[in-house]
Amino acid sequence: NAAVSLIRTTSVVKPGPSTSSSWNNPTEQQESDYVVDPVQGNAYYKGQFLGKGGFARVYLMTDVSNGNQYACKIIPKNRMQKIHMQKIAREIMIHKELNHVNVVQMHHYFEDNLNVYMLLEACPRKSLMHVLKYRGKVTEPEARYYMKQMVTGVAYIHSQKVVHRDLKPGNMFLSDRMIVKIGDFGLATRPDGQRRRVTICGTPNYIAPEVLYKQAYSYEADVWALGCILYALLVGQPPFDTATLKETYARICNNHYREVDDSIASRSGQDLIRWLLQSNPELRPSLERVKEHAYLTKEYVPVSLPHTCCYQMPPASI
Ligand code: ADP
Repeated sequence: NAAVSLIRTTSVVKPGPSTSSSWNNPTEQQESDYVVDPVQGNAYYKGQFLGKGGFARVYLMTDVSNGNQYACKIIPKNRMQKIHMQKIAREIMIHKELNHVNVVQMHHYFEDNLNVYMLLEACPRKSLMHVLKYRGKVTEPEARYYMKQMVTGVAYIHSQKVVHRDLKPGNMFLSDRMIVKIGDFGLATRPDGQRRRVTICGTPNYIAPEVLYKQAYSYEADVWALGCILYALLVGQPPFDTATLKETYARICNNHYREVDDSIASRSGQDLIRWLLQSNPELRPSLERVKEHAYLTKEYVPVSLPHTCCYQMPPASI
């Protein structure tokens, strides 16, 4: 009977607190629910609340049979219109096919009467948005470290014929070992042969001009967003950030941003930003070409970063 839904039970032994010290203390009240996948019969313990998005709430979930931990995106079915269900189905269809070290892995998904569940690779170091919040900006070696992984991950996504359409620091998650994991495929799409016109989506500061002009857009909008993220990492603010949305959009359309100078980035870093932030999408490089740029291949890129970099300057050796 596939109609089994969310269950409350006391008969399963609760796993103890997570052994990973990297999760923050829960500030929200813990719910002690167990969730069962009605098809496979697996039970999961629903633990700490990790965050919320549009429709979803995300919790740390533990597979009771083996102790594996996931970030579980839970989307309630009530109040959801058909169009939203279709969007979620599309997100799952796209995300489940992706398999790369720099992409949040979708391990499993299922539904019961109440919710849709997506079991995702857990990213305990949060995201680059949090790094920027605590640090303001990062050093050049750190920016190269993050950028190299973002470019590798998005190049892979593009190679799978998927455009992400919402690249921003908050969707660049960080694993326990500080590996960048691109997540949230809620706006992702597979462009068809002809460049079709698509609805405006994305996050104001990272939106490409062709999206604002309602022209057909495709992979190049992701390339633009990566330019904005690199800029934000080095400068501390995205390039077109202003007090009002109207002004931000005007600056995006006029390609009006303060150039990065020698005190902030090397010449090749400045060159890479200019290359990515070109108004004409056709002039922007593919990410396969960006991978070979001197900033990421000829200059120093740390092989790893300590997690203290989430909150403070890296040690002098980096
Ligand atoms: P939505 O698509 O509805 O915006 P998100 O995928 O952005 O939802 O997730 C909402 C929040 O949940 C995120 O901002 C983050 O705090 C948390 N979260 C999402 N995925 C993960 C993950 N893989 N690991 C840890 N936390 C996550």
